[in-house]
Amino acid sequence: MSDRLVITLPVAPYGELHVGRMSTPILGESIAKSMNCKFIMSINTLDCYKDRDAKKLVNLMGQYNINSDYYWIDSEHINELIDKIYILIKKGYISEKEKEVLCCNCGKVEISTDNLNSINMDDALFEKINDDYYCKFCGTKCLRKKTKSLIFDSKLVDKSTMCFFPDFINKDKYTFDQTVGNNDIIISRNRNTGVIINHNGYNYNLDIDFLWQVFLSLFDEKEKIVICCNHQLYQLYMVGMLEKCFDAKSNTVCLATPFLKNDLSATELENRIVSLKIFDLLVLKWAKKENTFDKTLLSFVNSMNVEKKQLLYDILVEEIETTDDVSDDLRNVLTKKYNFQNSNNELKRRRKNV
Ligand SMILES: [Zn+2]
Repeated sequence: MSDRLVITLPVAPYGELHVGRMSTPILGESIAKSMNCKFIMSINTLDCYKDRDAKKLVNLMGQYNINSDYYWIDSEHINELIDKIYILIKKGYISEKEKEVLCCNCGKVEISTDNLNSINMDDALFEKINDDYYCKFCGTKCLRKKTKSLIFDSKLVDKSTMCFFPDFINKDKYTFDQTVGNNDIIISRNRNTGVIINHNGYNYNLDIDFLWQVFLSLFDEKEKIVICCNHQLYQLYMVGMLEKCFDAKSNTVCLATPFLKNDLSATELENRIVSLKIFDLLVLKWAKKENTFDKTLLSFVNSMNVEKKQLLYDILVEEIETTDDVSDDLRNVLTKKYNFQNSNNELKRRRKNV
């Protein structure tokens, strides 16, 4: 087995089949098989507001025979993650500062006013009405408060060697470099988050998302591929950037998978388990951020008999000859191997030779 690791960004557990969402674990499993390395599925159960149960996702993966070497559940590693936060303090990335923060009553909105201009308002927890900001949850007007905070200074991180795939994601990376990557990020909260960081005799509540975002540093493999859907680019950027604080030379590829629109239901895929895997591997078009559901591919997959389907799947996950460049290998697998034309030609060739 090679010293590579394929790992998902910690996902909120879901229990229902979803053809688009399941493309991430299916890809992770297949890339790891192609590169003969470990695959870890990470689950995010750290949440201040919702009770999350990892079991339903584990059961769903079992039901669809999507196999990982193990499940890494963030809430089972709180102490190791906290140790990493203290290392960031020691290295000087995290320090205390007086900051102006915009806060609502319920505590969900808590953001540095420095960052207000760089926020994507569509995803924000608050809305702007005239010149004021209102929390979308509790409805209260957000007030500006000066408070002593823990900040992460992202200007100190060398981001030049962060590597993203597909290539066009580097445009987003560049935008992040100019915003979150060039600013103080407030990582403490006024509300009780359940995670206390003591700094200079003062107890800070740490932002839960920031805590899990250091998770890659817990894995020792030399080359990592971390996967998520491109709707989570901000988190992916943070994870990639934070890993650089621990290992400036890390060879991690941040892989942002296309978002699959117009989801189909499981019943439309005949002989579901293998069909689902084949469909998800071949439907993704890596030159686009959003992919639409492909009816021709669906009919093609459904038209195959079980033996043919299995052979095609075996071709898709066959081990490749790896090089010393993980991102080249990844490009190869995603664009040449998981390609309808190529894999179908290979299938025909092998069936002729039987
Ligand atoms: Zn609120």
